[in-house]
Amino acid sequence: MATVNEKLTDLQVSHALHNLKAANGIDRDLQRILKNAEDDLVGLLGKRLAKIAVSGDTSKRRTERLTNLIAEVRGLYGKVYSQTGTELTAALKEIALNEGEWQADALRTAIPVNVTITTPAPAVLTQLATGSVVNGLSLATSIDALSAGTVMAVERAVNTGIIAGQSVDDIVRGVLNNGLDLPRKKLRQMTRTAVMQVANDAAHANYAANERILKGWQFVATLDLRTCAMCAAYDGQMFKIGEGPRPPLHPNSRSISIPVVKSYDELGIDRAEYSNKVRASMDGQIASPRNMESWLKGQSVARQEAILGKTKAKLWRDGKFRLSDFVRDDRTIISLDELRKLKPAAFAD
Ligand SMILES: [Zn+2]
Repeated sequence: MATVNEKLTDLQVSHALHNLKAANGIDRDLQRILKNAEDDLVGLLGKRLAKIAVSGDTSKRRTERLTNLIAEVRGLYGKVYSQTGTELTAALKEIALNEGEWQADALRTAIPVNVTITTPAPAVLTQLATGSVVNGLSLATSIDALSAGTVMAVERAVNTGIIAGQSVDDIVRGVLNNGLDLPRKKLRQMTRTAVMQVANDAAHANYAANERILKGWQFVATLDLRTCAMCAAYDGQMFKIGEGPRPPLHPNSRSISIPVVKSYDELGIDRAEYSNKVRASMDGQIASPRNMESWLKGQSVARQEAILGKTKAKLWRDGKFRLSDFVRDDRTIISLDELRKLKPAAFAD
């Protein structure tokens, strides 16, 4: 029979997958805001570049026009990212509130004996969202940096196009296709890391609220398709509540925290109150960590497909790829199209 801590581990891993999915949904919404701004950007560039885009012209008037154009782009993205920041903050508040409650429910579900389980106050949880620090930066600073980075990317693409003597249409195309690519990726990375950060922080707020029944928390890197040295070093380790390196340790990390429930004896419950089976399930031992490769092998085909996508799941089951092949060095996921280019032989049949 699975112990309480093994049950909790299963629940937490499934739930973290759900959070990763939620992060993708939030990212899609935020990317839509960026996408919607592209019409305005194209209009702006088309109108202004018609007077500017002559390679070799270094007149003062032209320099002014370029400066004004970039100022307008800055104004546009100031508004765009302000909306992005507002929506992201609202989404993170939801994540924090859900996480606080979900963690309490998970303890209720897994623990077979009658103990009081507390949910952190909503104000404490939403503060975790608004006050969250992602990769060492506050949300406001992160959003400002994304905005500034986008303006820089547009400016660079515009100047590169002008120097190359491109037509206005080609310059605009270059901005949309190449210039804005990095800002889109940066936003995605920030959103995903922020969701993991806030979910982990909210989970830890829940552990603190339930410290009486927990002996600690465990760092678990199971969900990393490719575990980095940093996360691998902590994988499976237990720390006291309020201590230890709280995940995510780096951008795009999928490491999570799992609470470790005290043993029946450590909880100081009257020995006669519950069956031997119940008492034995509460052994206070941490569940042993499993890597994603072995964990996913034990899951249903439907779940494997939900996590990897149908085609990738099949390629992985057929032994054409390891999970680590699906991830780049920066821990972003490689698309099916790219995989096809990288290893065409795996797709031939
Ligand atoms: Zn890592």
